[in-house]
Amino acid sequence: MSESRAFCPRCGDAVPERSASDANSPLRPGAEVELCDSCYFEDFDFVDAPDRIDVRVCARCGAVYRGNRWVDVGADDYTDIAIEEVSEALGVHVDVEDVAWQIDPEQVDQNTIRMHCYFTGVVRGTPVDEQVTVPVKIARQTCTRCGRIAGDYYASIVQIRAEGRTPTSEEIERAKAIANAIVADMEATGDRNAFVTETSETDDGLNIRVSTNKIGKKISNKMIEEFGGTVNDAETLVTEDEDGNEVYRVTFAVRLPPYTPGDVIDLAEDDGGPVLVRSARGNLKGVRVTTGERYEASYEEGNSPDARKLGSLEDATEATVVTVEDDNAVQVLDPETFRATTVARPDYFDPNAETVPVLKSRAGLHVLPDESDD
Ligand SMILES: [Zn+2]
Ligand SMILES: [Zn+2]
Repeated sequence: MSESRAFCPRCGDAVPERSASDANSPLRPGAEVELCDSCYFEDFDFVDAPDRIDVRVCARCGAVYRGNRWVDVGADDYTDIAIEEVSEALGVHVDVEDVAWQIDPEQVDQNTIRMHCYFTGVVRGTPVDEQVTVPVKIARQTCTRCGRIAGDYYASIVQIRAEGRTPTSEEIERAKAIANAIVADMEATGDRNAFVTETSETDDGLNIRVSTNKIGKKISNKMIEEFGGTVNDAETLVTEDEDGNEVYRVTFAVRLPPYTPGDVIDLAEDDGGPVLVRSARGNLKGVRVTTGERYEASYEEGNSPDARKLGSLEDATEATVVTVEDDNAVQVLDPETFRATTVARPDYFDPNAETVPVLKSRAGLHVLPDESDD
């Protein structure tokens, strides 16, 4: 078996010819003309590290400036950020195998962290190691988003109002929750321009100031999807931006329906008995508290048929059932006078119940559905 010989292209020393598998390795292009070990290690640079790394960090939210924009990195502290930035910036020679490394951060002062990085690996069968120290300078700034929040910036106002009443606390709380959820969803997709600037309760409802018109529109649409009602938007020219474009602020006026689920209403020009409202989305829908029959307002009436509110499910009190008279009537004790009183028997009335919820109003005494165990 004859020994195959090759020569170092730099010093001319004989080197063992590399095996075919090595020469064809995509990781080692041109490996068949490699230098001898001595010439190779003369040029070998294991770790490529910058002299220092400057990191711009938002002092308010912890975002880091990368490339040409602020990004949320989810780091707990500046050391974590420094480690991440150093990891991004360091490079190791492609020939090295079994690379292992560790970083030992040394806090020098409030804004400087010296990163001691220790690398080991194997190249040409020879163990190599290298230690580099990279200072990381932290510059505390305010990101665009935090600057805007601090400056009470907003592009859109959502006004939550209701027709002929003030919005309920449930509607107010829901509007706030919807606003926060929409912003959280947008933030989760990396949108840093989404935020709620301010929510303020007024005498007639709630105002939500948000950072973009898109968010305002989403909140308004979600509110009327859940509660019914209408939304109108109006643009106001507020300024021109640096390029001379007109900047508009959009006000979304949400008008919730006059009646809400749980209200008991007395319809004008209708003798079918009061209606317990079940839904105010689209046309108002509910049940007659005299019979339990379904009621739906006409298209023309929509969610605001001519009616007056008698009370709501929450106003109901428990009344003792005295006797069931027939299919249409039942006797209960009037919760105020404690006199046995005959009232209409709706089909949701449970003949085995000892007590039933009743509403006493201008329209008289009515049995309501028992929803206590829902
Ligand atoms: Zn050589
Ligand atoms: Zn920030």
